[in-house]
Amino acid sequence: MPIQPDEIILASGNQKKLKELSHILNTYKLRIVPQSEYEVVDAVEDGLTFVENAIKKARNACAQTGKPAISDDSGIEVDYLHGSPGIYSARYAGESATDEENLQKLLTALKGVPRDKRSARYQCVIVYMRHAEDPTPIIAQAAWEGLIMDEKLGEGGFGYDPIFYCPQQQRSAAQLSPDEKARVSHRGKALRQFQLLFSQLYGGRE
Ligand code: IMP
Repeated sequence: MPIQPDEIILASGNQKKLKELSHILNTYKLRIVPQSEYEVVDAVEDGLTFVENAIKKARNACAQTGKPAISDDSGIEVDYLHGSPGIYSARYAGESATDEENLQKLLTALKGVPRDKRSARYQCVIVYMRHAEDPTPIIAQAAWEGLIMDEKLGEGGFGYDPIFYCPQQQRSAAQLSPDEKARVSHRGKALRQFQLLFSQLYGGRE
């Protein structure tokens, strides 16, 4: 059985992700450290899938720190747009686009499209690599099904949440509390799956 590390690098500068991951992994005696603490230069995200991009980010952080690393890649797929914006969700309206600009571009792309053709899903992939050449990374992946609305609703969440309708909750993702969102979201589900695979790898919670 591999020896569990006491420190894992988070291949992201996102404070929210750091908090969510630290929370999930708090039963293991380890520290999640953002890659900025090691002055890691960001990976080029030029893969064509969420998995490829997540692996590139984790491998890059391992290579530059010599430590195990965890990364995630996520986005939204809209069926009417053949899966777009997908892996380009964060930069749909341009390299440094804001959440609002991305969301408005999506609303425009779906203008006049009837409700039954507005299906979409969030995707999240989480990758863990023990070292840069790890041939068997942990890969956890989950989706969250919904519909793109034709106007914004709610103040919570981020990104496309105000226009992402969740049929089961009958509200937009931006109207869910953080706990509610974590129970059903792509990221929440992928994190729980990740936790299980991580436990299996290191054999328990010590
Ligand atoms: P990244 O995984 O940080 O690269 O983010 C990908 C992009 O997908 C984000 O910038 C958002 O536009 C979108 N996205 C991913 N997850 C969510 C979510 O839970 N809510 C809203 N937007 C999301």
